[in-house]
Amino acid sequence: MSISYKPVIGLEIDAQLQTNSKIFASDPVLFGQEANTLISPISLGHPGTLPKLNKKVLEYAIKMGLAIGSTIAPKQYFDRKNYFYPDLPKGYQITQDKTPICIGGSILVHLKEGDKKMEFHHIHLEEDAGKSLHEGDNPFSFLDYNRAGTPLIEMVTEPSIHSSEEAFALVSEVRKLVRYLGICDGNMEEGSLRADVNVSIRPVGTSTLGTKVEIKNMNSLRNIQRAIEYEIVRQTKVLNEGGSLIQETRTFDAHAGTTHSMRIKETMNDYRYFPEPDLAPLEISASWLTEIKSTMPLLPWEQEQKLIKEFSLPAYDAHFLADTREMALYFEEATQHSKAYKSISNWLMGPVKSHLNEKNQSITDFELSPKALAEIVELVEKGTLTHNLAAHQLFPLAIENPGKSASQIVEEQGWLHAQSGDEILLWVQEAIAAYPDKVKEYQKGKKGLIALFIGEVMKKSKGTADPKRVNQLMSEELAKV
Ligand code: ADP
Repeated sequence: MSISYKPVIGLEIDAQLQTNSKIFASDPVLFGQEANTLISPISLGHPGTLPKLNKKVLEYAIKMGLAIGSTIAPKQYFDRKNYFYPDLPKGYQITQDKTPICIGGSILVHLKEGDKKMEFHHIHLEEDAGKSLHEGDNPFSFLDYNRAGTPLIEMVTEPSIHSSEEAFALVSEVRKLVRYLGICDGNMEEGSLRADVNVSIRPVGTSTLGTKVEIKNMNSLRNIQRAIEYEIVRQTKVLNEGGSLIQETRTFDAHAGTTHSMRIKETMNDYRYFPEPDLAPLEISASWLTEIKSTMPLLPWEQEQKLIKEFSLPAYDAHFLADTREMALYFEEATQHSKAYKSISNWLMGPVKSHLNEKNQSITDFELSPKALAEIVELVEKGTLTHNLAAHQLFPLAIENPGKSASQIVEEQGWLHAQSGDEILLWVQEAIAAYPDKVKEYQKGKKGLIALFIGEVMKKSKGTADPKRVNQLMSEELAKV
């Protein structure tokens, strides 16, 4: 008989902090530079060098802690985690084992079945390692130490995530939050945000945690989800076939969609943690904490509430617009130039989003300024242009001609004229004159033929006429014939 199991997942999410320099040295923190150009005796761990803590790192970690409601530890110290690996030149990593900077905290995530509070165990500080590079058939491995000493916060969740969707939602939310806080660019492809994923299963109705496996260094949301799904199926199969699971580290093969064992617990390192003797213990003063609190930006959920309250937007719109701070700010700036808040939101969720998706751009790359978009919105609001004309003709032209205002384009295209009753009436009369037979049929009762006449006028106007107006004039004129 097969038993039903409940998945249990815990994440360790690493975020590289966007500081100018490394956590314990003045080497710059930059991605994609030539190998071994951002290094110094300190980040290479040369004998006799001493680490010096970058204060910005503490500030950024505290910001994250405050955002998720953690307790900020007033006193902390760093620990040495000892292990040998070629990308770790010192032979140990400086981390916080016993005294993490932030304790507890939670984030609310939106799931199909409702909102769920995801709990964090703690957030600690540590330094990133360098990178080993293996190139094709080359028998040598290469080492790039540019990343060594990049500041990281590791956000460790409680083992209270129960599906791959929940894990996906949580990492997405963390990514959104670090970007709002401006502490990490959240770029998963570049490894700025990545996660170790711990997965176990336990029989439904029991509470003892099962044996977990840890899948290291996942740097895509989709792969986190796939790896968890694969593990749940694999572990269920092992247990249902009477086997047992072992605590191990596994890697995910994105190509095959499977995980495979890297090392088992017995051969795992004993890190021999001890307090880092080269760094003094830390004390976070209450006054500094107050100062950091005063510099906190609006958080994603606060931004969402603001959009709902201040601009009367539906929750759906607010959620969409607050997905990035830049989009929310774009919206807010556009409202300085048009009070049609819901229409601006519709434009951003519709034509603007499609355009950005098509071009693979973000709102910060968008060609139209908030003011320029608001001008288009207003032209429709005031009835100068139909939405159709604005969205399908004016919008692309405005993007192609960033130097021209919307009203300038409207003028040049002669659309104002085309929208006037006189011109439409002329086209209506021409359409009626062109189809005398159809007019007779219409008069005999085939009222559906009005669509043909309207279509004719729309063609003549190249789609610029307001269909409502055409319909009205057409009915009036056909009644006169
Ligand atoms: P370890 O000592 O092996 O590093 P921790 O207790 O420190 O384990 O937890 C590390 C991460 O693993 C946390 O995110 C935690 O939620 C998760 N975790 C711990 N036990 C389990 C389990 N049985 N199943 C799934 N995740 C777990």
